[in-house]
Amino acid sequence: PKPCEVTPAIITKSYACQRRTPLKHHNSFLTEPLEILAENAEFSENEGRSIAFRRSASVLKALPRAVRAMDELKDLPCLGEHSLRVIKEILEDGTSSEVESTRQSEQFQAMKALTGVFGVGVRTADRWFREGLRSPLDLVHTGQKLSHTQQAGVQHYNDLNTPVTKKEAMVISDIVERAVKAVLPGAIIILTGGFRRGKEVGHDVDFLITHPEEGAEERLMPKIVNWLEDQGLLLYQKTTRNSYLESKDGPARPPSNMDRFERCFSIFRLEQTKVDCDEHVDASSYNSGRTDGTEERHSGSSWRAVRVDLVVSPYSQFAFATLGWTGSKLFERELRRWAGQEKGMSLSSHALYDSKQQRYLQANSEEELFAHLGLEYIPPSERNA
Ligand code: ATP
Ligand code: MN
Ligand code: MN
Repeated sequence: PKPCEVTPAIITKSYACQRRTPLKHHNSFLTEPLEILAENAEFSENEGRSIAFRRSASVLKALPRAVRAMDELKDLPCLGEHSLRVIKEILEDGTSSEVESTRQSEQFQAMKALTGVFGVGVRTADRWFREGLRSPLDLVHTGQKLSHTQQAGVQHYNDLNTPVTKKEAMVISDIVERAVKAVLPGAIIILTGGFRRGKEVGHDVDFLITHPEEGAEERLMPKIVNWLEDQGLLLYQKTTRNSYLESKDGPARPPSNMDRFERCFSIFRLEQTKVDCDEHVDASSYNSGRTDGTEERHSGSSWRAVRVDLVVSPYSQFAFATLGWTGSKLFERELRRWAGQEKGMSLSSHALYDSKQQRYLQANSEEELFAHLGLEYIPPSERNA
């Protein structure tokens, strides 16, 4: 390409699922600030605004080089007035005053700390904030009524806010593989989520499980959970039954992120070697003091808590589930929007319905799904929108 050209292809591609978005890119100095504003909009339950900032950031992630001047942006899609103003400020001054004051604000910091508790959503965090609570420790001190999930979230707050490394994800993979193979020989287990996209660290580890014999996967989760519990590997688990068949959603149901697979949101107790422990202290010295009292430190012993998501899908829905659980969240949202707005189709982690043909389209692979959707295939490592 000519040196002055900013990938012409991107200009017409306004959906993130039409673009390749690598994990490492050249514009973090712009995308991180924009994502702070997106997060802040989520905290105020302003979804439209949050999506707008996320789409802006995502376009910049797909660029082949760092943005240096505003005129390089003039033909790019998704960049709204507000985002452009922020970008301009950063290009000129190095920082954006709006972003920095957001970062410093008591509300943003408190919402970040409170939604950082596993099981706490924006609604609950906002209510607590308005009652004067600012941190997980405040929840303990004021004796807030917490769900079981939130209790586990507070108890393991530090561990769950320490990024999970790829190495740890691999150890968890081995454990999950052993558990599943023990209770259902022939089952297939894949790592999904951020680690499938090539991330070096994650907030959890995600797995999708199926079996080539349709029906063999039914009611599998309780067996996996029992096996893990017998080995003393679970600190917390919440299993939800598959409700896809009972649901009356139908093809035209409102697009929702929640799917209806049998699933388990859990916290694993991961044994660590001495070396791992030292690495963690080095890598995350910011919370190695653990003086906040939210977590019983396992003194002497060497384990940490890790969030793990397990999902079971029937074989016939495996391609849909794989695509739906690989992310990123924005990539998924854009896929569903593309399907609906551009193709008259309805996509979920279970199925793809074509409204024109009035029928469900089958698929055995992600490649087939992209083809049904009229999209060029994007591999997981380039779905980091
Ligand atoms: P991280 O490193 O933060 O874990 P991630 O991309 O793996 O990054 P997750 O929150 O673990 O983020 O989500 C992984 C994928 O699973 C996303 O694509 C998301 O859309 C999907 N997902 C998460 N929760 C649900 C849910 N309740 N129902 C359906 N899909 C979900
Ligand atoms: Mn994940
Ligand atoms: Mn997850």
